[in-house]
Amino acid sequence: MRVLIISDIHANYTALEAVLKDAGQVDETWCLGDLVGYGPDPNATVEEIRDIPNLTCILGNHDMAVIGKMPLEAFNGEARRSLAYHEKVISASNMSFMRSLSANVKVRGEATLAHGSPRDPLWEYIINGLTARLNFDHFDTPWCFVGHSHVQCIFALNEQNDRVTLDQTQPDHTINLHPRLILNPGSVGQPRDRNPKAAYAIYDTEARTWTPRRAEYNIVEVQDRIRAAGLPEKHAVRIAEGW
Ligand code: ZN
Repeated sequence: MRVLIISDIHANYTALEAVLKDAGQVDETWCLGDLVGYGPDPNATVEEIRDIPNLTCILGNHDMAVIGKMPLEAFNGEARRSLAYHEKVISASNMSFMRSLSANVKVRGEATLAHGSPRDPLWEYIINGLTARLNFDHFDTPWCFVGHSHVQCIFALNEQNDRVTLDQTQPDHTINLHPRLILNPGSVGQPRDRNPKAAYAIYDTEARTWTPRRAEYNIVEVQDRIRAAGLPEKHAVRIAEGW
């Protein structure tokens, strides 16, 4: 089975469209959360996600804020401004779709899915060997897919010596999966690994492979919509630079 893995779309509809096109035919799509927050297109993005066949979708911290299950005060000023805007403009049907989902960790075959981390799905960032090591004790499958940090990368646990290594994965370099790994497909709508192209991954459940990929999209068009909506300028600047 060929599975499209996406995360952290952040209301960037143009980037999502580019990823769905670039990915081609897939059997399933697994989304690791943060459909909204930051970007200009919360409704178009959620509608597009709703239309994806064979979808598994968990919520992220930004989604929880927009559906009223987390206080906006938990976010910094600029992130909060976008969330307040999204809360205001999100349609009733998109709101009820999001409310039908949860932020709980899910298991799909050999993979555990979490937004932030398996031990703290909403807030923890797995960004270094220590946080990765602690999280290897919080899932039972051979590998775990997480988002939230917006960095396309892979953490490997060597069970012989209990060491964790971190690799920033190369786009289009297919990785043969082996126990045990934590993999991040990167962010569709707001990459933070200095590569502004939309990030995602293809997971092959039979071959047991993971292919990180990047898709080009029209960033200027999205920046224009961020500015037209009166959202923070920072959100427009960063998507062109990938931070
Ligand atoms: Zn995010």
